[in-house]
Amino acid sequence: KPLLELEDIRKLYPVKKGLIIQKEVGTVRAVDGVSFQLMPGETLAVVGESGCGKSTTARLAMRLIEPTSGTIRYDGQDITKATRQDMRRLRRDMQIIFQDPYSSLNPRMTVEEIIAEPMVVHNVGDRASRRDRVRELLRLVDLAPYHADRYPHEFSGGQRQRIGIARALSVSPRLIVCDEPVSALDVSIQAQIVNLLKDLQKEFGLTYLFISHGLAVVKHVSDRVAVMYLGQIVEIADKKNLYDNP
Ligand code: ADP
Ligand code: ADP
Repeated sequence: KPLLELEDIRKLYPVKKGLIIQKEVGTVRAVDGVSFQLMPGETLAVVGESGCGKSTTARLAMRLIEPTSGTIRYDGQDITKATRQDMRRLRRDMQIIFQDPYSSLNPRMTVEEIIAEPMVVHNVGDRASRRDRVRELLRLVDLAPYHADRYPHEFSGGQRQRIGIARALSVSPRLIVCDEPVSALDVSIQAQIVNLLKDLQKEFGLTYLFISHGLAVVKHVSDRVAVMYLGQIVEIADKKNLYDNP
């Protein structure tokens, strides 16, 4: 049974023109009839040029935005009809890792506060158990326990992304949306982060929706790759075909 299912999803945005009075002059089809299923433990990559609708698709999947039409099911449940309470549970079960590890971590929070934040938001554990959990998570992402008391600016891009990953993992989600998680990193660091994500997936049975503009990054982590163009999935290939093609 799929963990996540998008069925004929459309997201239209109004296009407005005019400097003083904004007049609606049309619509842009950011996502135009997208369907896919994501099985538990699977990695589906969504690739395509800038503007093709990847991040809109990711935001729709997490229900950060509402689709104009279509159905989104998570764990069999239609989340376009979810109640507030359902959404709270879903928000815990789906976490996101952002592209830019320099701007996505609050510079005024310690690493411990950053990683523990989703646990605080979702009332997981008490202070002491969260403290222990943060240190365990740091170890999982190959950082050291003493890093907990430091601030994000004291870390490299790759280390910051590890902190972002630890944060996402803190509430034991099943689905992680990886929104260009290595695009802002040096090529030499990209492979380390991708391998870490792969290892964590194996260890915890995580399901990944992996957004990327390039195919190179996702080739080795994905079970399937969906190619988007102008808001549509124009091609979907499984791992075997990816490796067979030169
Ligand atoms: P990608 O992530 O592949 O770069 P996006 O999903 O960000 O693509 O954008 C797809 C299309 O939708 C683009 O043409 C973009 O300009 C448009 N778009 C995205 N978000 C909005 C918005 N909030 N308002 C208006 N247009 C938007
Ligand atoms: P992009 O990569 O397209 O420039 P961002 O990565 O900055 O966009 O943010 C992606 C979306 O996620 C934005 O719409 C933002 O409002 C939302 N967002 C930002 N922080 C969080 C968070 N901690 N949890 C959930 N959603 C967030």
